[in-house]
Amino acid sequence: METKLWHPFANMAEVKEHPFVVDRAEGVWVYDRDGKRYLDGTAGLWYCNVGHGRSEIVEAVAGQMRKLDTYFTFHDYSNEPAERLAARLSALAPMDDAKIFFTSGGGESIDTAAKLARLYWARRGEPERVHILSRRGSYHGTNGFGTGIAGIEANRDGFGPVLADATRVDRDDPEDLRAAIERIGAGKVAAFFAEPVQGAGGAWAPRPGYLEAVADICAETGVLFVADSVIGGFGRLGDWFGVERWGLRPDLITFAKGVTSGYLPLGGVAVSARVADVFWQAPGHAFPHGPTYSGHPSVAAAALANLDILEREELPARSRQMEKLLHEALLAVGEHAAVTEVRGGTGLLGAVRLAPEALPDKSVIHRVARSVREHGLIVRVLGGDSLVVSPPLTITDEELDFLRASMTAGIEAALS
Ligand code: PMP
Repeated sequence: METKLWHPFANMAEVKEHPFVVDRAEGVWVYDRDGKRYLDGTAGLWYCNVGHGRSEIVEAVAGQMRKLDTYFTFHDYSNEPAERLAARLSALAPMDDAKIFFTSGGGESIDTAAKLARLYWARRGEPERVHILSRRGSYHGTNGFGTGIAGIEANRDGFGPVLADATRVDRDDPEDLRAAIERIGAGKVAAFFAEPVQGAGGAWAPRPGYLEAVADICAETGVLFVADSVIGGFGRLGDWFGVERWGLRPDLITFAKGVTSGYLPLGGVAVSARVADVFWQAPGHAFPHGPTYSGHPSVAAAALANLDILEREELPARSRQMEKLLHEALLAVGEHAAVTEVRGGTGLLGAVRLAPEALPDKSVIHRVARSVREHGLIVRVLGGDSLVVSPPLTITDEELDFLRASMTAGIEAALS
C-alpha cells in the first residue's frame, strides 16, 4: 500500500511503494519487521551517540513526565530539569560563563544563533552588521537561515531569494574568508558559521590549521565565530562541543542531536559572555525569539540521563580511540577498485567515495547503498558519490569488523 508519510529528502515517487520500516533497536543494531538486523552505521542521523535501548533515558523521561510532563520557559517560567541541564552544559562549554538557549533541534538553533548575532550588533549600535558567511559544502539545517546560508547548493535551489546577505567562502582556504570580509566590509558582517567537520557535505575534516586560522580572522575583524556542532558535539569529535580538540573558543556554538542521543528532539545555542552580556546586563533588552518547546522538562530529563551515560562510560574519549579503527576499517573498504577516496580519522565518522567510472548515472550510488543495507549495514549517500558512516560511540571492535565486511560485500555485490 502506498504510504501517506512524506519522507524528508526523499524522492517519493520511488519511496512510496516500499519504505524501509524500522521496527525496533538495541545497542548499535536496528531490526526490520521480519526481525532481520542491521548495524546502525549512521547512528540514525548522526545522533544516537550512546546507542539504542538505554532504559536509563526511558526511565528518566517517564519519571519526569509523571511529575511535570511539560511546561514552557518563556518570561520568568522555569523548571528544574531545564535549569540543571543549562548549568551542566554551561560548565562543559569552551567559553566564558556560557548561557544556554534551548530549541527543538539543529535548524532552530541555527536560526536562533543568526538572529542573536544580528541583534547583538544592532544593540551594540552597528545595525549594518547583518551579513552572514558560511563555507561551501556546509549544511546548517533546513529552516530559514539554514537554507539561506547553505553551502550545499541543491538545498537552496528553487526556494527563491531566502537570505540576501549571505556569502559562501571556500571550504579549506582561510584567506578566502579574509578576502570576503574585506570585500563586503567588516562593518557589514555579523557572523561566520562553520561546522568543525562538515557532515552532510560528505564527512570532510578541516585542513590542518584551517579552523584555528578562521577563528583568528574572526577575532581580528570582530566577526562573530559560530561553530555549528550539531553533529560534532557530545563525543562525535571526541569532546563535548566538537571544537575543543582544536582549542577553539567560539562566540556561539549550536548543538542538537547527541545532546539527547536523539531519544527526544532537543537543540540549543551556547552563548559566550561577549554576546550574552549585551542582553543579560542591560534591563529592557529582551531577545524577542523563542520556540514553544524551549526548555521542555521531559526533553531536558532525557538529555541529563544521556549526559550521565556519556560521562560515566567516557564515550567522548572512547570515540577518540575508535576513530582510528573506523578509519582503518574504511581504508580496508577502500582497497576495492571502485573506491577512489577514503575520508575519516577526525572523529567517529567517515566516508568512502566511489569513482566516477563506477557511477555511470545518479541511481547507481543509491543501488550500492541498498546493497550494503541488504548485507546488514545502514549507510548514507552524501555528496552524490560517497557512502558515509557515523556509528554509535559504543561500537566495538567486532562490530567495526562487521561494518567493514558488510560494506565491502555490499559494494562488491552491487557493482559486479
Ligand atoms: N547543522 C548541522 C551541522 C547539521 O548536521 C544539521 C542536521 N543534520 C543541522 C544543523 C540541522 O539540524 P535539524 O535537522 O535538527 O534541524
